[in-house]
Amino acid sequence: ESKSAVNGNSVKEYIISDKDPVGFDLLPDQLVNKCVERGFPLNILCLGETGIGKSTLMDTLFRKNFDTKPAAHNDNEVTLKEHRHDMQEKQVRLKLTIIDTVNFSDQIDKSESYKPIVKYIEDQFESYLQEELKVRRALHAYHDTRVHVCLYFIPPTGLTLKELDIATMKALEKRVNIIPIIAKADSITKPELLQFKTNIIQKLKEHKVHIYQCPTDDPIVAKANQKFNEDMPFAVVGSTEEIKQGGKTIRARQYPWGIVQVENEQHCDFVKLREMFIRTNMEDLRETTHSVHYELYRKTKLSEMGLVDDDKKSLQEAYQEKKREHKQNMERAEENVRENFIRRVKVKESELKEKEKELHDRYEELKKQHSEEKRKLEEDRDRLKAEMEDFNKRKTLGSSKRKK
Ligand code: GDP
Repeated sequence: ESKSAVNGNSVKEYIISDKDPVGFDLLPDQLVNKCVERGFPLNILCLGETGIGKSTLMDTLFRKNFDTKPAAHNDNEVTLKEHRHDMQEKQVRLKLTIIDTVNFSDQIDKSESYKPIVKYIEDQFESYLQEELKVRRALHAYHDTRVHVCLYFIPPTGLTLKELDIATMKALEKRVNIIPIIAKADSITKPELLQFKTNIIQKLKEHKVHIYQCPTDDPIVAKANQKFNEDMPFAVVGSTEEIKQGGKTIRARQYPWGIVQVENEQHCDFVKLREMFIRTNMEDLRETTHSVHYELYRKTKLSEMGLVDDDKKSLQEAYQEKKREHKQNMERAEENVRENFIRRVKVKESELKEKEKELHDRYEELKKQHSEEKRKLEEDRDRLKAEMEDFNKRKTLGSSKRKK
């Protein structure tokens, strides 16, 4: 009879009868506990021009005053600013990151506006991939910064989507879940809004823009999700102002002509957005980010690196193999460089030797010439000397004859 390591009880006491469960029915509880303990990351990218109501909507959605500092207008670059907030509802911890796009659509030349956004999204995929490729992975402790959703704020112009909106959405559609929303919906009348929505849907269809579709395969949420899909884009109103009405505190915008209640479905689609995004499909958005958008990035990136992630070979093995291959290539290249260097040194050496020999020959030649000339000069000198002696002799002889 063995003893349990935990509390010293005999194992017999646990298994009372054969009909008792072994205990793996508790696995979901263990999973839930673990997940709850870690908390859930949710990363929302708010995309839209300055003053469109991005921060107000986030405050409204999470019933908080995040106190987001107003963005600087003078800078012409599109930049992304992250705001981290740790939130808790009952036992559940949400590690919320709101990413604000600063200066989007504010520049004169807007054609490149979406590039920093694409880069940001891909950078987050890249750091996740790097973590995944590590031999010692710590994904459970890794803070996932991948963007789960892009709330695309459409200004309430009453017209239709602009070219910039289409270009941006097309650049983002394969990288992130796009949920388009009509911002500041209280700025236009109901009939105008209906027409505006129709125009937007038509434009999205015309350009085959893929926006987020709520899943309809789970029977529990299928009907509601079907309706959400039909009703998008939602026309929303945000407000940080709370007013008392019938003993209740409600979020609303007050005007001389009346009150727009944010959470009143007659007034706007805010409740639908919250229901669809936070209450029904938050997990699906996280899941789609991983299994569709990140997966596509990973696949493209790995094949660019020459890695194929197939069933026969694990990614780790493929990565290690690639690393080995790269090391061998580097060694080969190093060897080539060394050989080249030696060859060039040898060539230079023989060139120098050749030059030295030439110089030596020239020197010998000059030496020979010089001694030849010297010999000739000496001969001339001797000849002259003999002639002079002869002359002197004759001169002496001549004068002695004259004396006699
Ligand atoms: P952001 O720059 O996109 O973050 O915009 P803000 O949230 O700071 O909002 C800019 C201004 O628009 C503020 O004065 C808000 O009170 C106002 N605003 C925000 N949401 C709405 C809305 O739904 N309707 C109306 N009419 N005004 C709004």
